[in-house]
Amino acid sequence: MKFDLNEEQAEIRDMVRRFTEQEITPHAESWDEHNHFPREIYSKMAELGLMGMATAEEDGGSGLSRFEGALVYEELAKGDMATSVGLSVHNMVTGSIARFGDAEQRKRWVAPLAAGELLGAFSLSEAGSGSDAASLQCQAERRNDDYVINGTKMWVTNAGEADAYLLMARTSVGKGAAGITCFVVDKGTPGFSFGKTERKMGLHSSPTRELIFEDCVLSSANRLGEEGQGFKIALSSLDGGRINIGAVAVGVAQAAFEVACNHARERQQFGHPIGAFQGIQFMLADMAMKIEASRLLVYEAAYKLDAGQRASMSAAMAKCFATDTAMEVTTNAVQVLGGAGYVRDYPVERYMRDVKVAQIFEGTNQIQRIVIARALLGNMR
Ligand SMILES: Cc1cc2nc3c(=O)[nH]c(=O)nc-3n(C[C@H](O)[C@H](O)[C@H](O)COP(=O)(O)OP(=O)(O)OC[C@H]3O[C@@H](n4cnc5c(N)ncnc54)[C@H](O)[C@@H]3O)c2cc1C
Repeated sequence: MKFDLNEEQAEIRDMVRRFTEQEITPHAESWDEHNHFPREIYSKMAELGLMGMATAEEDGGSGLSRFEGALVYEELAKGDMATSVGLSVHNMVTGSIARFGDAEQRKRWVAPLAAGELLGAFSLSEAGSGSDAASLQCQAERRNDDYVINGTKMWVTNAGEADAYLLMARTSVGKGAAGITCFVVDKGTPGFSFGKTERKMGLHSSPTRELIFEDCVLSSANRLGEEGQGFKIALSSLDGGRINIGAVAVGVAQAAFEVACNHARERQQFGHPIGAFQGIQFMLADMAMKIEASRLLVYEAAYKLDAGQRASMSAAMAKCFATDTAMEVTTNAVQVLGGAGYVRDYPVERYMRDVKVAQIFEGTNQIQRIVIARALLGNMR
């Protein structure tokens, strides 16, 4: 077992670290303040080969491993969690179309997505179906060779800005997960519009919007895979998505930890740096310990996925532990900074607001614990 990065992996990490420090970190506060989605950053990430990370080189991607992907998401999230999450969603979409699309669909969407000419969004959740995603209601009614889509979707990251939407809709009523079919919908398709933009606690530079479908006609060339295969397609990207979010959480936690450490060295009270007090030292030691444990869980889950091993329990553990850790670390980083942590002069309050959602999306952390318990005990109901 090796714990060192090889030369190529170290180069990828260093390249993304430099990019983040130059292009993202200096602007993240302003993007948050102004709810600005930095589309231009995605074009630059495309130049670095990050828009088709999980996609093979013959489809225009850079064919990185999950492990290398984890290095990328961690580094980006140190600058701005929202950008790292937006990229993860985009790569989930690109990867799914590359895996399940026919030659025509790969040509139509995958190459331009991987080149950063198009941006992707993933739409599974609805107002009535979140954790119980298989109960979704958005209808796709077959009419000859076409499908007519009616209904609304919620919580779609990148919505409004994205060009290609992976949509899960119901083609058969009463069939549960087996009645769900996946479509790729282009922005601008008649009958497809956007609802309200959510006003969120954090992640302000990532738009989250509702999708509205009113007699929106899609041809069968927009259907990804077979009828009824949609839930399987959605689930197929889940382990990878959870590992990505674990890596994102590690990045945010690491960034918060570094601010807290610097502050502990510099801030003087009672004639000493506050880092000289054991109460602060123990908080920092716990942060360092849990961040390192999170990172190793993320790496192990990524390794298993890359090696073609069963990775669902590891991915759930990595996502759950890393995001719970990031919530604790960012909260304690605010504490170490005292009043300074609660105001916007330092980034730790943004890290704390942003990272809360990582315990909620990509399957809530209660759902992750269910996945882990089922892997341990089997389905006991
Ligand atoms: C900022 C943001 C971005 C998002 N981006 C996307 C996106 O791009 N695409 C997309 O499809 N979705 C997206 N989502 C939706 C996200 O995946 C859902 O919010 C999430 O799956 C939870 O669903 P819910 O909000 O309906 O909560 P609910 O499912 O209603 O859960 C409410 C609470 O009940 C708990 N709970 C539910 N079932 C159980 C159970 N069986 N046992 C124990 N506890 C349970 C949950 O853990 C949670 O604490 C996004 C959400 C947010 C907030």
